[in-house]
Amino acid sequence: MTSRFAPSPTGRLHAGHAYSAVRAHDLARAAGGRFLLRIEDIDPGRARVEHIAGIEEDLRWLGLTWDGPVWRQSERLPAYGAALDGLRGAGLLYPCFCTRAEIAASASAPHGTPPVYPGTCRHLADDPARRAAVPHAWRINMGKAVSRAGPLLWHDATEGWVSAAPTAQGDVVLARKDAPVSYHLAVTVDDAAQGITDVVRGRDLFEATHVHRLLQALLELPTPRYHHHPLLADAAGRRLAKRDGAPGLAAMRAAGVDPVELLARLRGGGIGFTPQTA
Ligand code: GLU
Repeated sequence: MTSRFAPSPTGRLHAGHAYSAVRAHDLARAAGGRFLLRIEDIDPGRARVEHIAGIEEDLRWLGLTWDGPVWRQSERLPAYGAALDGLRGAGLLYPCFCTRAEIAASASAPHGTPPVYPGTCRHLADDPARRAAVPHAWRINMGKAVSRAGPLLWHDATEGWVSAAPTAQGDVVLARKDAPVSYHLAVTVDDAAQGITDVVRGRDLFEATHVHRLLQALLELPTPRYHHHPLLADAAGRRLAKRDGAPGLAAMRAAGVDPVELLARLRGGGIGFTPQTA
């Protein structure tokens, strides 16, 4: 059994990240399995190399250990390229030239949710000259992919067997305009390449798993078991998030928080956890 923690180095870890890391770590250790650390640094606008060492330091301070080398997604681009080529060759991808503003204007989405792509570029005739000249993303033709893959199931530790239902998310991006791969593709390829048997992550990624299950089928990759855990909330019941000033592990450390006690609190609690900063 192999689990992983896969943070994006857009900042240092806060208690919500630590909670996820502890759950993934403990699941593996309890089974005598392996716990891997993977840095998801494919976002050129937000990932910062200096946060990578910081994240490792935060985890070590908390007392977590991981096995094997730390993978960085920025070093895995050829593997993603090969997966994209396979899907492109199967006629399941198309280039999309739309800007964010165009998508927002033409898509209807409830406030606060990302717009579902309206399919503007889906049936454009291929135009290599335009592709060479104009930045573009690559999207999956979701309808075609779903009918190609047929019915699919995945297993969640809390929900049990789930029918994969990625259609509602529309033609998601697999290669970004500003990066050669998207989260959905990179995470699917890497979980398989690292032999991850158990994916432990926050409930906020539950819907993403529908897309990952589809990609596993199309790329003929194994399907891990999933453990989507509740998100930590602050004392006011709000989800811990960096932008709302959730205290980082580094700040807790500087404030003299005892990591052993913090670890015990993360293990025991979860919802309603209120980080202690003094
Ligand atoms: N890198 C993602 C994040 O930091 C998590 C990916 C995953 O666990 O699948 O939100």
